[in-house]
Amino acid sequence: MFFDLYPVSHMVADSALLMGGSNILWYRAEFCPYIREDGRPCFDEKSGNAYIECPVCVGKGTVWGQPRSIRGVYTDKSNEFIPDGMGGFMKGRKTLSLSPNLPIKLLKHRDEKVARRLLRDKFILLERDCHGRMKHKETVFAAADPVKPTINSGTIYLILEVETNL
Ligand SMILES: [Zn+2]
Repeated sequence: MFFDLYPVSHMVADSALLMGGSNILWYRAEFCPYIREDGRPCFDEKSGNAYIECPVCVGKGTVWGQPRSIRGVYTDKSNEFIPDGMGGFMKGRKTLSLSPNLPIKLLKHRDEKVARRLLRDKFILLERDCHGRMKHKETVFAAADPVKPTINSGTIYLILEVETNL
């Protein structure tokens, strides 16, 4: 009998996040839709620059739409001390452990034929205050493409490296 572990591990990941995770608002990054008066789009595919006076994205070339509520675990190991025999140094990273099937990508297409660009999805981490109300804890942005769970990767989650700066 063939027993497929993937759906099982996804169910385990999702229920573990439901119990042990926190609420996160996920905003998918999209190209700025603004068109200038001369007909050119805000983001210039050739130069890779956005319109600096854009009233929509204020020159970022990226906009974020309506958020989707997801569950995840935020791990901040950005201040780990790494001993190297000569005094050591500080290093590390911040990650989100998420449900395995979220379509998070850094390289995105404007449409079928044009250039690809890095657009960073935004995540707002929420926590409950002492009155039980949800409040904003931290905002982070995707820093790399997520690592998907495989048999050998030692995780059942989608691991996304994030950073606080856009
Ligand atoms: Zn714009």
